[in-house]
Amino acid sequence: MAKRPKARVVRKAAKKSRPAARAKAAKSSAVAKSSRPSNAGRAAKAAKGRKARPTAAKPTKATAAAKPTKATKPAAKLAAKPKPAPQPKPATNSAPPPPALEAKSPFEMRVNLAKDLPETDVQSALDSGDMGFLHSFTTGSTVDGPGVRVVAWTTGCGWRCRYCHNPDTWTMRNGYPVSVANATDELRKYQHGLKVMKGGLTISGGEPLMQNRFVVKLLTAAKKLGVHTTIETNGFFGERLSDADLEQIDLVMLGIKSWGNDRHEELTGRPIEPTLAFARRLASHKRKIWVRFVLVPNLTDDPAVFARIAEFAASLGNVERVEVLPFHQMGRYKWKELGIPYLLEQTAPPLAESVERALQTFRAAGLEAH
Ligand code: SF4
Repeated sequence: MAKRPKARVVRKAAKKSRPAARAKAAKSSAVAKSSRPSNAGRAAKAAKGRKARPTAAKPTKATAAAKPTKATKPAAKLAAKPKPAPQPKPATNSAPPPPALEAKSPFEMRVNLAKDLPETDVQSALDSGDMGFLHSFTTGSTVDGPGVRVVAWTTGCGWRCRYCHNPDTWTMRNGYPVSVANATDELRKYQHGLKVMKGGLTISGGEPLMQNRFVVKLLTAAKKLGVHTTIETNGFFGERLSDADLEQIDLVMLGIKSWGNDRHEELTGRPIEPTLAFARRLASHKRKIWVRFVLVPNLTDDPAVFARIAEFAASLGNVERVEVLPFHQMGRYKWKELGIPYLLEQTAPPLAESVERALQTFRAAGLEAH
């Protein structure tokens, strides 16, 4: 967004950052669900990410000692008949592999990053929340909440929105495992810059509340650093958050996809009521909401839908703004590569007049709309 401060501090940390103009371009192309990522700092972060990737383990003294030496080789040949006693295998750790943070655009296809992780490890990570699964981790975003933001994109989503531009985030195992400690260390690098630029941490997805324990732990760590916290969610699992958890979230970017249960289910595969119930609960706790609405021709581009969402949002009293996100086709290739039937193949982005009509409806209800 042009009116927002540019991501200088983050860019400084991310030396090869791309210009803010690209974030602006991303804004104009808009997104399904949430994701209109900025690219600033992505290149340098990618370099950092590469460094952070787990490398092949170097031989330890113990393993080096186990290798045959010049002296032992002949003896080993001679001792071929009576089989040598099996060497004790190094102790295996069932915990997830060392976490790695990789700077990647959420628009990049990411699959199977945790495919070899045993199911028990995935489950224990979800249960404890000490470990989460991220599709990508980006810096310098100006379109995912107030100011300039670091964004963690989680994997796992039970919805099947027809316009989703990140279907590779639906599967938890498509993300890579990362510990809360490692993610916090990464965030700490940007702590001061984020404060200066009135930004913070946003956790998006996928659906972040599929990993509610990890998300709450990471948000709590961010709050301890004095970093503003935001989640972008469809709200379906809002009930998983305790009242104390809500205190760790400064802003909820809530996707309201349509109106009316039938239309909502047709669009997303899930009922709308849990989302609305979460919105009401946030209002009762006076937690701020930004409503996000994706405008899709022939699907959500309906004045009656705008009007009902506007009426509902205005009634809450805690909605700071509404963002109307024009549909785009940046995720089309992912559907194709994943082999998932894509019903919006021929759908074009909405006309400017349609976007304006939606904005005017929200503004007429007394809401700030962008
Ligand atoms: S809620 Fe899930 S399916 Fe819908 S747009 Fe978001 S990530 Fe995609």
